[in-house]
Amino acid sequence: MRGNLASRSSRRDRDELLGITDHAWLLRSELLQKRFLPARMTLGSLPRIPRSILVTFLVLILIATPGFADSADPFGIQGRVPRAVPQGGVFVVTLKPAAWIEGVRGTLDAQPLIFSPPEQDLVQALIGIDLEAAGRRRLRLEANDRHGRIHAREWSIQVKRRRFAVQRLTLPRHQVELDPETLTRVSEEAERLRELWKTVTPQRFWKGAFLSPVPAAMVPEGFGLRRIINDQPRSPHSGADYKAPLGSVVRAPNVGRVALGEEQFFGGRALVLDHGLGLYTVYFHLQGFLVKPGEMVQKGQEIGRVGATGRATGPHLHFGVRLNGARVDPSALLRLPLP
Ligand SMILES: [Zn+2]
Repeated sequence: MRGNLASRSSRRDRDELLGITDHAWLLRSELLQKRFLPARMTLGSLPRIPRSILVTFLVLILIATPGFADSADPFGIQGRVPRAVPQGGVFVVTLKPAAWIEGVRGTLDAQPLIFSPPEQDLVQALIGIDLEAAGRRRLRLEANDRHGRIHAREWSIQVKRRRFAVQRLTLPRHQVELDPETLTRVSEEAERLRELWKTVTPQRFWKGAFLSPVPAAMVPEGFGLRRIINDQPRSPHSGADYKAPLGSVVRAPNVGRVALGEEQFFGGRALVLDHGLGLYTVYFHLQGFLVKPGEMVQKGQEIGRVGATGRATGPHLHFGVRLNGARVDPSALLRLPLP
């Protein structure tokens, strides 16, 4: 009952947003309720006009009503918008906007979507769901037509909870507590990364599917792992770790620009690639860099070697993905079908 009412009112909202004129809306809702006929008269009780002709006639009136044709999807949504996305998930919205609309824009709750510049009439936005997100997200698309009317569509996306592993560790205090100097260094390094996640490069460097930074047969582990050290919960593990042998080649998963390359306390030799439109990939504990900040890198290009620098228990690659601030599961990005 509730679902029925909700879907009816959302359909109505959508139609109104799509710019179906009041007249057309009224006509259609009246038609649905058969109330346009005199009281106590039904379609079946009309004596002379065959029902099929009457229905055809009414459908023709509806189609001919100005504004009705505009209700065809103005955004040209390619494929489907997912109804549910797991924590740490990522999906792509590809649009082929109709010629009669302009200024296509969108939001995920309050956050603006970042669309790529059009390529062969297609625009794309990658949308990431943070690993700690919960509840529902509202995805909204908007555009104007030449009459200044706003056309919009909305979707409600359920964030599916994932069960992340929990690791409890008891460590001597001197290993956990940082001296004031280190603490300052760590917070400065974290701040530099936070600033990067907020910086959106308007060009799209990435093109097509993302490749694994290490041989594809390697399975990354530990995304979202929650560590509780000496009963203190730490922020969840925002990347995935590949247990690759020391010195293994690390390759750029897509086209990008080196946004950061420095020695960090936790991350060791740390690299960040900017793929444009708010998408970054992160590489920690490298043995060495093969690229420099500011340099453009190609898909598959060698960018570094696996090491154990920084706070690492052994050689491994920590691979992370940030998409407009959201901590995204790298495996989800690698699995994403992109033409
Ligand atoms: Zn890691």
